[in-house]
Order: sequence, then C-alpha cells, then structure tokens
Amino acid sequence: MKIINPATEEVLEELREEDEKTIQEKYRLLKNGQPAWAALPIDRRIAFIAKFYDLLEAEKDHLAATLTSEVGKPLQQSYNELNGARARIKFFIDNSARWLKDEWIITEGATREKIAYEPLGVIANISAWNYPYLVGMNVIIPALIGGNAVLYKPSEYSTLTGLAIQQLLYRSGIPENVFQTAVGKGDVGEMILSLPLDGYFFTGSFRTGKSIAEKVAPKLVPCQLELGGKDPLYVMDDIEDIDKVAEAALEGVVYNNGQSCCAVERIYVHEKIFDRFVDSFTRHAKKLRIGNPGDADTEIGPLTRKGQVEFLLSQIRDARDKGATILCGGNQPERKGYFIEPTVLVNVNHQMRLMTEESFGPVVGIQKVKDDEEAIRLMQDTEYGLTAAVYSKSFERAETIMKELDTGTVYWNCCDRVSAGLPWSGRRHSGLGVTLSYQGIRAFVQPKAFHLRG
Ligand code: NAD
Repeated sequence: MKIINPATEEVLEELREEDEKTIQEKYRLLKNGQPAWAALPIDRRIAFIAKFYDLLEAEKDHLAATLTSEVGKPLQQSYNELNGARARIKFFIDNSARWLKDEWIITEGATREKIAYEPLGVIANISAWNYPYLVGMNVIIPALIGGNAVLYKPSEYSTLTGLAIQQLLYRSGIPENVFQTAVGKGDVGEMILSLPLDGYFFTGSFRTGKSIAEKVAPKLVPCQLELGGKDPLYVMDDIEDIDKVAEAALEGVVYNNGQSCCAVERIYVHEKIFDRFVDSFTRHAKKLRIGNPGDADTEIGPLTRKGQVEFLLSQIRDARDKGATILCGGNQPERKGYFIEPTVLVNVNHQMRLMTEESFGPVVGIQKVKDDEEAIRLMQDTEYGLTAAVYSKSFERAETIMKELDTGTVYWNCCDRVSAGLPWSGRRHSGLGVTLSYQGIRAFVQPKAFHLRG
C-alpha cells in the first residue's frame, strides 16, 4: 500500500497490507492477552496511559510532521490536534476510575445489590484519517483503560500515524497482545468484520458505517458509529459584531481544510444582515493563504484524498448550473497536489448537492432566510444530525432553536468544537452511540448485576 503526500503527490512509503492469515494471528494474540490485561488493577492500566500521554508530548515534533506529511494538515493544526488529543487522554486518566468502579445500589437488608463494569473483550476500532489522534483516542484510550484489547485499523490515509500511535503505546508498556494495528484499506476492514470480536467502534462515512452496522448486526455485539454531517450555522439579525461572527464561521468551514465531521457545511443568515455578513465572510475567505502545509503561515493545505478535489468541483458545478453565484474560489490552484481554493457561494438552495450532501472541504454555501422559522426548517432539512450552531445576542431565542434541532450537539455563539467532558454523538445518518464524557467511558464496558444474599 502506497502512502502518498497529498501536497506533493510523492510516495512517502510503501507498506505491506494485512491478509487473512495476519489478521487471524493478530486476533488470536489479542484474544489470549486480554484476560491478563483486564485482571490488572485499573490504576496500573491508567499508569501505562499516563506514560503514553507524556510520550505524545515528548515526540510531538516528529508526530506532527508525520501527520502533516500524510494527510496535508497545516503543521500548526497537527500540533493543535496532538494537544487536543492529550487533553482528551487527561480527561480519561482523571475520570475513568470513578465511572468504572463498582456501584453499590443497596448496601443493607436481606439482599444487597451492586453493579460491576466488565470489559467487552477484544474490540475493533476502524478509524478515519481526518483527525487520527482525536478520533483514535476517543476509542483506544477508554477501551484500554476499561480492560479491553484493541485491534486498531487506522485509515489507509493516516497509517503512518496509526503505526506511530502503536509504537508509543508499546513504549508506554502496553503489551503487544493487548494492542495491534491492522494495515490496509476497506478490504482489511472487511476481514476485521468477519472476526468474532466483542465490539466494533467505527469512525468514518455514513456509507461505510451503514454497511458495517448491517454486517455486525447478526453478531449481537455493541457497534458504535461516528459518521459524517452536514452541519448548519444560523446567524440571527441581532448579532452585534458581524465581522467577528463571519470570521468564526469561516474558521468553522475551513479549519483542517474543511475536513472535519463537525465542520460548518452550510450557513443561513437573516435577511436583515445578509449582505454585510457575506461581504465580511468573503473578504476574509479571499485572504486565506493556500500553501505547503509544512510552512508555518499556511492556512489551507491540500485535501487528503485525490478524488475529493473532483467531488467538490462537481458540487460547485452543480450549484452554479442551478443558479448559484461563486463569490470566491471555485477552482483548483495551479500547483501540484490535491488543492482546491476556498470557495464561497450564494444564491444557493436545497436543490443543490452543495447544500444537502457532505462536502468535506473548504467550500460553503450561504443562504438568506427571512426569519427563525425558515432557518429551523432548513437546518432540519437533512438526514444528518451531528452538530448545529446558532449565533445570536439572545440566549432565549437561540435556546428555542437549539432545543428543537435533532442533533447530538448544539452550539450557541461557537461552532466546530468538541469537549472531552461532553458526550460526542450523532443522530440518524451521523451515527449511533457515544464517545467522550462519562458515557464514552462506560461505552467500552458492560454492566453486571450482582444480587447478594447472605
Ligand atoms: P471511510 O468510511 O471512507 O473510511 C473509514 C474507515 O473505514 C477506513 O479505515 C477505511 O479503510 C474503512 N473501510 C472502508 N470500507 C470498509 C468496509 N467495507 N468495511 C470495513 N471497513 C471499511 O471514511 P473516511 O473517509 O476515512 O472519513 C471521513 C468521514 O468520517 C466523513 O464522513 C466524516 O464526517 C466522518 N467522521 C466522523 C467523525 C465523528 O466523530 N462523527 C469524526 C471524523 C470523521
């Protein structure tokens, strides 16, 4: 399997993909290793993770450079991702023991009752490339702390990072029979689905997630899916600083080259401030610096996958053919690599693919609305349900909308953010199950009820 640098199109490395035999061997190794790992006191398991937390900091220059080289993320954003991942790990280090210890329900009388939290066993994490540290840590860390063994399949677009994570876990003292990485593409993912694992934790597209859920269903084991989104942002007429909101919204669109599950993918603006908002947004978008992601001042690097450039251009063409106006961007810049210009469109509507299908790039449509009711109707006009943002001076007005939206996360005067203390979950086509927060600690264990008489 060739690992390509998306900024230069050079081959960085060639790796050997797993086959049925190596996958079976990895599974048997983990199956044998998991009971001893689960038998360790939780403090010991957490101590290994604390070592890993330190190593991520010590090795951050090399890790950030590797991440940028294979996914094209601007270097500063690779550092930000590593810092963000460490914050999540710290949350798990600090909070897991509290949520995994035995819970006494009845301590007196003829029958005492308690709940114990036991590991699932050997679980798979089939993962995405856009934030390999963040989405990886959401699963790997609580799974290991909970006493599970993990078969980790990094995306084929972030495999060098996946292997670096594995190496640091081993250096932290996590045994090889507790954590294994499977190198390969979708067919290797399919091989993992055919193993008799005790849980499947997936991050990726709706299409793959749905097919995984269908294949895992007959096993009757937990299957969690963190999938895509078409996340809306609504700007009300009462905001005070239009420029500030425009800048925040733009960052929500283009951060990580627009390749975030919770990126702002469509914007609705109240008609009273529409023109001023669009002016400010476009002015800032035109200033974004496209360049080599290794350079410190680059804001927009290449897309990670070659095919995504044509996909976005086709969304832009479709919108233009149906009457949209391109205010900036719309093309591939003249340079090597999988680049696309940040693109802003107006005169858009929901007949256009751009406004309904996940873009996953620095491209956005801004639509005018006449009131909150129209904004709510449009925000809800989607199969996805990951996040939604509302900008307003009035909390009451924003809260009314936030309560009505069918998404796992809502934002008031912020967007495109994730917090370790809060549950991360998508609804409908955005996923099933929860990571992060205490619920994301409990997602990797199963309760056992003890009825104790005598
Ligand atoms: P993808 O679905 O193409 O691939 C994800 C993983 O699944 C990869 O490891 C891939 O090799 C594997 N895979 C592909 N086909 C498979 C199959 N048939 N069986 C088993 N495994 C298979 O997604 P991607 O391009 O890596 O990620 C982008 C998507 O992920 C976007 O839709 C994005 O919104 C979503 N995402 C969601 C979250 C979240 O937290 N909700 C976070 C990050 C990314």
